[in-house]
Amino acid sequence: MQFKDIIGQEVIANSLTEIIDSGRVSHAQLFLGGTSSGSLALAIAYAQYLNCGNRQHFHNHEHGVLRADSCGTCPSCLKYQQLSHSDLHFYFPTASIQSVSKPQSSLFQSEFRDFLNSFNQRGTLEQWYDFVGLENKQGMIRELDADDIVRSLSLKSYEGDYKVVIIWMAEKINDVAANKILKNLEEPDPRTLIILVAEQSEKLLSTVISRTQLVKIPSVRSSLAISPEVEQRFASSYVVWMRQLFKLNMLSLSTWVDEISALNREQQKQFLTYSLQAIRECFLRNNAGMPQSMDFGDDKFNASFPSMITERNIERLDKAFNNAIFAIERNAYSKITFMELSFSISKALKKR
Ligand SMILES: [Zn+2]
Repeated sequence: MQFKDIIGQEVIANSLTEIIDSGRVSHAQLFLGGTSSGSLALAIAYAQYLNCGNRQHFHNHEHGVLRADSCGTCPSCLKYQQLSHSDLHFYFPTASIQSVSKPQSSLFQSEFRDFLNSFNQRGTLEQWYDFVGLENKQGMIRELDADDIVRSLSLKSYEGDYKVVIIWMAEKINDVAANKILKNLEEPDPRTLIILVAEQSEKLLSTVISRTQLVKIPSVRSSLAISPEVEQRFASSYVVWMRQLFKLNMLSLSTWVDEISALNREQQKQFLTYSLQAIRECFLRNNAGMPQSMDFGDDKFNASFPSMITERNIERLDKAFNNAIFAIERNAYSKITFMELSFSISKALKKR
């Protein structure tokens, strides 16, 4: 996972790469954030960057623009991209199923990798349970996992510089297991990194929290609370808009801008947020094989538009939308904001 594929988290990505570049990597870190924040994806991107043999630095230092990333092509990155690096270990909640009576993470490794790939490293705990067939059982990270963690950290690293242990949903570590890894959290071996990924710090033992460096992952602007009717209206307006931008028909564009600017500011903001989500969804569909989750009510558009959004224009689009949302929040003149945004999108779509 590269940071550039984690849309909307450029600010935290920049501080993470700075930590590594300045050599201030803490051996035990707690990535705290909601599921939608992409905290697990960020933890993986962070470990990949740490081990990358050819870190990339970009020269655009504007706020909100990614400044550094792993290369994605060195031997270490290639293994990280496949999640197959032998010094990358995942631990996560498991429970017994028919074929596994003594559940532990090591017995579910390939399922977990498939799960990560299927959900673009953003799946929820519930989706994991469904994916692996745990049904209504409560998963846990157990003593056997703790023993494994201690063992894998005591081994010499195979290939990478750093041995990395990522514990996903760390609030599910039971007390016995937590106590077993306290020493590793406190006095880790050199060149090891333990990342706990959790959603709720209050469910973690204070002895664990006190031994980790906290990295708060902000949530990504998303999840609109709008009615299906409004969503339908937004969808058709979005389709009309994108078609105009592709052809850049000025006359119908200015009519469209007049119409959208007639909405109140809150609705304008909601529409922009909806549209940004739609753009991100198209990107994930086109580039990460995600199934379609938004319906724009137009089969031709549903099928053809995602290919317009690629890694060559997604960052630019993301930024243009966020600037427009910011402007609307700050009471900028709507017609100008929508017109400027339209030109930025139109330019970006040509750069696909
Ligand atoms: Zn690399």
